[in-house]
Amino acid sequence: MTVLSFSELNLAAPLNQAVSEMGYESMTPIQAQAIPVVLEGRDVMGAAQTGTGKTAAFSLPLLQRLLKHETASASPARHPVRALVLLPTRELADQVAQQVKQYAKYTQLRSAVVFGGVDIKPQIAELRRGVEVLVATPGRLLDHIESKSCVLNQVEYVVLDEADRMLDIGFLPDLQRILNYLPKQRTTLLFSATFSNDIKRLANSYLQNPVTVEVARSNETAATVTQRFFAVDADHKRDAVRTLVEELDVKQAFVFVNSKLGCGRLARALERDGLSTAALHGDKSQDERLKALDAFKRGEVRLLVCTDVAARGLDIKDVPVVFNVDLPFNAEDYVHRIGRTGRAGAEGLAVSFVAPSDQRLLGDIEKMVRIKASVETLATRSGYARQERRDDRPVRHERVERSPVESRRPPKPASRDPFFDKPYEPTVAPEVVPNWESKPGGGNKYKGLSGNIKSKGKMPALFKAPAPAEEQEA
Ligand code: AMP
Repeated sequence: MTVLSFSELNLAAPLNQAVSEMGYESMTPIQAQAIPVVLEGRDVMGAAQTGTGKTAAFSLPLLQRLLKHETASASPARHPVRALVLLPTRELADQVAQQVKQYAKYTQLRSAVVFGGVDIKPQIAELRRGVEVLVATPGRLLDHIESKSCVLNQVEYVVLDEADRMLDIGFLPDLQRILNYLPKQRTTLLFSATFSNDIKRLANSYLQNPVTVEVARSNETAATVTQRFFAVDADHKRDAVRTLVEELDVKQAFVFVNSKLGCGRLARALERDGLSTAALHGDKSQDERLKALDAFKRGEVRLLVCTDVAARGLDIKDVPVVFNVDLPFNAEDYVHRIGRTGRAGAEGLAVSFVAPSDQRLLGDIEKMVRIKASVETLATRSGYARQERRDDRPVRHERVERSPVESRRPPKPASRDPFFDKPYEPTVAPEVVPNWESKPGGGNKYKGLSGNIKSKGKMPALFKAPAPAEEQEA
């Protein structure tokens, strides 16, 4: 891998200064590949995910190329939108906009972000003052286009970031409408975690002779994730989370569920159980989502219960534990969920609950990550979380005892290289009504037992074997 230093790029001094203030020592692989190509003005088709440093990979060269338009003039007419960055969610748009602002802070180039779920008027006022770089989610951008609060006829660069996610969410018609408003003569950059047929079609329609840049998914971090599976039926999931949080002395965790409804309910239930918990899902207001995230980042919230879509791509590092309260419908999402932990060489733990009806999903996960899952029995306060065993697959139960000490071992501190992780690429899951809301312990004969975990096996580290091909055709 060629690791170049930023100084070799000959970026303008204001950009170099911003980069060095960010503390970046060398370029990430996607930056080393993409920046020179974008500087040449070529279209780019980039296979990279959040967490690889791709925001800087497109923002720095774009800012460099826009510097020729830099002006101290206050006139809005002198600050038309020159670069448009489209992202699927508000959080990602906000995250990218913050980075762009950092990189542009010593230039006179202006940037702004617009997304739905918040008052449109301040956005209109900001757009009317003029911005060169506009970061947006598609729906809100169309509102602005239609209300004529932004004009895109001088756009020279467009970035379709997390393109596969935008298509998953159903933004294709919005994207097509937006792209049709833009000048034909422009540079288009498309970043996507996967190159499905739909993405290829999108690229064929809107990119001209693109250069493909690709960074392999790093499996290194995943090798530091210990995966444990517990047989827990739907009625005991809440109790099982509580038990494991105490048993394993979990400082902070992402808790994944498959539905928005389930997300809110589980968060409220855990909060009632005395665990400081916040929920992150698509039905929360923007303000609530940002507050929940901030509180989690500050360490004020111990458990962040979230759906895949809401948590996608969030730049939260070093979460020691990930719970899969519901197994994801798509095995790829499992990889992305557990990639929230064990980042950058830190040790992480992924705990997944396996309900009796989850055998097919578990089988898919086993195939995807090439492990044989040993499903442990869990004794919660209210009794055994599930008594029936996977008798159909007895060979998979390795009899290796995990000592309580080992289970409680705190994660090692993260290394200084936090961005080569396994970023997120969830799938929009159907809404499912959860049924783990039952009273903990209701009528169970094991009530009063201490929360011992009956360990039946030690999980092999993920990706010991060569990584599976993860790019899927949609
Ligand atoms: P991104 O994939 O763009 O969301 O970036 C993920 C994280 O990596 C962000 O916190 C960036 O600030 C950080 N980052 C980006 N480029 C570099 C770099 N060259 N060196 C170190 N960190 C970086």
